Amino acid sequence: MDKISIIIPCYNEEKVLSRFYRETSKEVSKIRDAECEFIFVDDGSRDHTPDLLQSFTYMDHRCKFICFSRNFGKEAAMYAGLKNASGNYCVFMDADLQHPPALLKEMYRAVKTEGYDCCAGLREDRTGEGHVRNLLSHAFYRILGRICNLDMADGAGDFRMMNRAMADAVLELREYNRYMKGIFSFVGFSTKWIPFRNTERAAGESKWSFRSLFRYALDGILSFSSAPASLSGAAGALLLIASLVTFLGFLFSGYFLPESDRNIVLLLVSLILMLHGVQMLFLAILGQYISRDYMESKHRPIYIEKRRGGF
Ligand code: UDP
Ligand code: MG
Repeated sequence: MDKISIIIPCYNEEKVLSRFYRETSKEVSKIRDAECEFIFVDDGSRDHTPDLLQSFTYMDHRCKFICFSRNFGKEAAMYAGLKNASGNYCVFMDADLQHPPALLKEMYRAVKTEGYDCCAGLREDRTGEGHVRNLLSHAFYRILGRICNLDMADGAGDFRMMNRAMADAVLELREYNRYMKGIFSFVGFSTKWIPFRNTERAAGESKWSFRSLFRYALDGILSFSSAPASLSGAAGALLLIASLVTFLGFLFSGYFLPESDRNIVLLLVSLILMLHGVQMLFLAILGQYISRDYMESKHRPIYIEKRRGGF
């Protein structure tokens, strides 16, 4: 019989956890040919979340929990949950019921019978989130897609069910700064997208502030791209072009100005621009070496196998 591990990162979720547990239990009971386990990961909550989780384990043997010693972030909680999951299918869900449990059945069908390795929810809209946050996230995904060469759908969240092969691949990426959306995209595997409507969280507050979202966005870019390290190269090239233009200005100013008035300032400016340009170019070269070393230090797998035959 199949086993689905439901992994739930929880940070100060006492207001919504019981409801989450009730509604999700109800939905998984509709999946006939699979049993499930709940793996709650308490990410250093300061409310009664750990006590609640403890009480779940008394009530229901399918419930397990891990408590962190402090807040390590959702990505760390997801990793811990996945590492301790024993199911042959694993699914990540938010505790606030923004990931509709009613989709679990359809997700299971997709990975079980339709030949997909993964089935992920795709938010159709961003109801319940501010306009500015909306706009910024759209811009962020466009930039990320362009510079990281990763296929990351806007609206793709962490709500996804995957088979064991993909779960093991995700676990093989042991980097400390984990940007899960990028990791899912990096490991590959076939993914079916199921659109769903975003809803307000059932209770409690979102844990994201603008500052943490900004840090998260930066994590995303820096974990998967060394493009920022090349920025100084572009700046260097621009400075050199500007230096050349100024130098030409200096040379030809002699044609329409008397020799004595030839603008010596232009020559100086051109020189300064050139020196800065050269410096920037060398910074970019240094950046390339450092970024290569940085990517190496993640010890990412060189390839990820999906299947074999005939060995
Ligand atoms: N979460 C977590 N650690 C954190 C922040 C959030 O484990 O430091 C969990 C949180 O309990 C919830 C999920 O991650 O289950 C999504 O968080 P939230 O609803 O605050 O994010 P949003 O839906 O606003 O993006
Ligand atoms: Mg939420």
